[in-house]
Order: sequence, then C-alpha cells, then structure tokens
Amino acid sequence: MHILIPADDIQRRVREMAAEIERDHPDGVHMIAVLKGAFVFLSDLARAMPGRCSLDFMAVSSYGTSTRSSGQVQLLKDLDSGLEGRDVVIVEDIVDTGLTLAYMQQILRARSPRHLRTACLLSKPSRRQVDVAVDYTGFEIEDQFVVGYGLDYAEQYRNLPHIAVLD
Ligand code: 5GP
Repeated sequence: MHILIPADDIQRRVREMAAEIERDHPDGVHMIAVLKGAFVFLSDLARAMPGRCSLDFMAVSSYGTSTRSSGQVQLLKDLDSGLEGRDVVIVEDIVDTGLTLAYMQQILRARSPRHLRTACLLSKPSRRQVDVAVDYTGFEIEDQFVVGYGLDYAEQYRNLPHIAVLD
C-alpha cells in the first residue's frame, strides 16, 4: 500500500470545499451522506461549515468485498426526513462509473428539493459510464482502487487519515 493523498492535503481541500458549499447556500444546507464510505468526509466537511447545516444518511449497495463495481444499485437505508423545497447536497466518497450517484440523484430529485447539488471527495473520470453532474470535486484520480478516509477494502482501512492505493 502507498499513500496517494496525504491527510494534510485532504484537510486543506475539504476546508476549501466547505467554504464553496457555504457560499452557494447562504440560507443553510441539508447534507445527505452516502454510507458507509462518506462518513469521514461528511464529518470533516460539516465541522468546517459554521453556518446552518442539517444532516441525513442513506445507504446503497456498493462494492462488497471485491474491487469491481457490479453496476447494480440497491437502496438499503432511506432518509429520515423529506426534501421538498430544501437546499440539498449529496455527500459522496468517490464517483467511479457514476452509476451509484446517478441513481441517488434520480430518486432524490423526485422528492422536489429546491436545489440538489453533489459533493464528491474523489472522482475517477476515466471510469465514467454515465454522465453525472458533480458540483464540488475534491480530487480527480487515475483508475486505481483506493482505500482510507472512509473508503474500505473488505471493511478494512476506513480509519486511515489519508487516501492510499492497494498495490
Ligand atoms: P460507482 O457507482 O460510481 O461505480 O461507484 C461508487 C461506489 O463504489 C463508491 O461510493 C464506493 O463505495 C465504491 N468505489 C468506487 N471506487 C472505489 C475505490 O477506488 N475504492 C473503494 N474503496 N471504493 C470504491
């Protein structure tokens, strides 16, 4: 395993993203994190935003224990509250094929938020299978499997403060 993005770089970029999100949401923001991978990103992002901010969580099916996407998305846990008229930001760990995010955006848009935007810490543009809008991107990376800062391999490594590549 080697470090791809050091913890300090992540912290700096997350603070920049938090400032951008706050600037775009002067009336406050409702942030929806996609479990489990986005929990660390959400936690740092939310703490860098001193303004009005509420949180909710969703869980969708993901990679399981392999490093390849199944391409199938399933809703495992829904939100606790409705979105009508609210300024919503989806908080995702990583956009790979884009299938998960496209699914999330589709079902959340149907709940009539005032705005629906998306913040992703990492993006692998070369892997994209569907064209999906991401308003705030932390880092673009190559096509490689990464762990740390919430991201796992077989439920391990989520606790690392940096992003690492499994060799
Ligand atoms: P997509 O639907 O865009 O192909 O995949 C999105 C989900 O796949 C992410 O939320 C994440 O759970 C998982 N994923 C994609 N790439 C990686 C990666 O490099 N490392 C890890 N740990 N998970 C990934």
